[in-house]
Amino acid sequence: MKIGLILSNDWELFGDGSGDYFEIQHQPLEALLQTAKDHGAKISVMAETAQQWAHLDLSNQYAWAKEISEAWISILQNTLRHGSDVQLHIHPQWLNAKYSDATNQWVLNSADVSIANRPQEELEKLLGKGKAYLESILKPVDSNYACSTFRAGAFAIEPYARYLKALRKTGFHFDSSIVPGLTLAPFFNFQQYPCGTSSWRIDDSILELPIHTIATWMPPILRRALPRSIFEAVAFGTKAQDYSWFETRDEFAIAKYPASKHTLMLQNTATFFDKFRSKVINRSKFILDYDFLSADVFVSILKRKLKEHNKDDGVLIVTALGHAKNVHNSDNLKRILGSINTQLKDRVSYLTYSDVNRMLPS
Ligand SMILES: [Zn+2]
Repeated sequence: MKIGLILSNDWELFGDGSGDYFEIQHQPLEALLQTAKDHGAKISVMAETAQQWAHLDLSNQYAWAKEISEAWISILQNTLRHGSDVQLHIHPQWLNAKYSDATNQWVLNSADVSIANRPQEELEKLLGKGKAYLESILKPVDSNYACSTFRAGAFAIEPYARYLKALRKTGFHFDSSIVPGLTLAPFFNFQQYPCGTSSWRIDDSILELPIHTIATWMPPILRRALPRSIFEAVAFGTKAQDYSWFETRDEFAIAKYPASKHTLMLQNTATFFDKFRSKVINRSKFILDYDFLSADVFVSILKRKLKEHNKDDGVLIVTALGHAKNVHNSDNLKRILGSINTQLKDRVSYLTYSDVNRMLPS
């Protein structure tokens, strides 16, 4: 058995609309694409598209908005030329966003977190518009390009039946919004899905490609209390040689987007008991996130996966996550890809959602 590793990257400004596009999206994506290319890997860029529509709306009025919307299109076209992929991601906070001349800041509709929580017709219109928009800018580069995959902003896919119906009707083949085992009230609750699941068929038309998660025995409260090196050694049995990248990354992330501005966390409606249970009692679940796990841990998780499935045939799809906006450079991903290529060369291949779409019988 081989692992088909999808390196997805949620590509967007910060949740309150802040952040410099070139600094936190464009340049990091250039670096990511180069890193992927240098290692024979591919990135699946989950392009937040409602943000692009907000910039397009201002393009006649402001030269900076025009510059950003054009750069957005050209780098996504380049993404395809690099052999990487682009798929749809929407945070509905950007729909009806206003730009304030007084503060030079976007003002988003922070109450509108869930794309699925709107009338069926409106939801279908939105998903259809996103798919058509990405195809309109990317088909000129690759006439076979298809927008096949959606990832909901904040993983908010409730009500689920309505959401699936809309995906089906608008011609999506994959959802990649489920993070097994994780929960954040009121936006998502994926506790019924076992951690580590690779993919499952929802029906004849939709396949779920969940973001890969790993369960450990360690309660989250301990995870926060321990230094990263000890916590990785205890939780995963592996630790990296050097944690300086993570220290710089944490400083960078806090300086750019402090916790006091995190719009989702501010709207968390979990009860005191739920929070206590999730911090103290529940086992800790980790996302296979190449911006948060050291290379040694990331590779050890893939090795464990290969061992678990060593009797199986075929390709096991494993979807990892990253966020261009959260990192100061792609050195951690470089280390991960370098380790995969030296230790697991014949056991791991790099896939995109479009590759998976092409692999499936039509
Ligand atoms: Zn997002």
